[in-house]
Amino acid sequence: MTLIHIEKASKYYTMGEETIKALDDVSLDIDHGEFVAIMGPSGSGKSTLMNIIGCLDIVDKGIYDLDGQAINVLKDSQLAEIRNQKIGFVFQSFNLLPRLSAYENVELPLIYRGLSKKEREPLVLDALESVDLFDRRNHYPSELSGGQQRVAIARTLAGDPSIILADEPTGALDSKTGVEILNILKRLNAQGRTIILITHDILIAKQAKRIVQFRDGRLYKNV
Ligand code: ADP
Ligand code: ADP
Repeated sequence: MTLIHIEKASKYYTMGEETIKALDDVSLDIDHGEFVAIMGPSGSGKSTLMNIIGCLDIVDKGIYDLDGQAINVLKDSQLAEIRNQKIGFVFQSFNLLPRLSAYENVELPLIYRGLSKKEREPLVLDALESVDLFDRRNHYPSELSGGQQRVAIARTLAGDPSIILADEPTGALDSKTGVEILNILKRLNAQGRTIILITHDILIAKQAKRIVQFRDGRLYKNV
């Protein structure tokens, strides 16, 4: 079943006199439960696509439907609501707060969402369990060297996203830790979550079920 439907989508940026086509007439469908890797050189439009899929930004031209809903007609507040309900972001930098424990880092967004302590606890513990950090939930980020990205993933999971958008999640990690992260993403995919992963690493991309390649804002390969 189609989750993401992007049709003839373009996104432009104006820099002085120059117009940059960050995305140029891109069409892409992604089904529920897929694991897609996105590759391409720096500046080829990968992050722009992620921002659009993640409802952080909207297309200038073309169509983006998410779960059958037209996204490019929505107001900012509606986009934010969809992000909260459906989308989880993981970045190269973990953006953890160093003075909070793993547990507290995962809990923080749930506090902002207004959940009570009693509501938060099972969500935080389940999320930490999913990334194998239950036993180390009271450790601080500095004590979890290779586990920091796992805390960041748990923080995302606590919001129960159906789609996980990961922009170079292994980019800052040694290869062993990178493989651990990839295995966690594969497990989350096996549990039914849709994963979209930007990577420069072909060995990582090959673990996905599909590789989409970008060049100069255009999708040129979809295998
Ligand atoms: P990457 O190459 O790893 O995708 P970038 O450094 O190109 O990362 O971009 C990081 C973020 O900054 C992206 O979300 C993008 O939207 C934004 N960005 C990229 N280029 C520009 C620019 N020229 N002006 C303003 N923002 C930019
Ligand atoms: P990638 O993620 O593949 O590195 P991006 O999507 O970040 O590529 O960028 C695609 C193109 O759009 C680049 O030329 C980049 O400089 C430009 N760009 C991205 N975001 C912005 C922005 N906010 N303002 C101006 N230019 C941008």
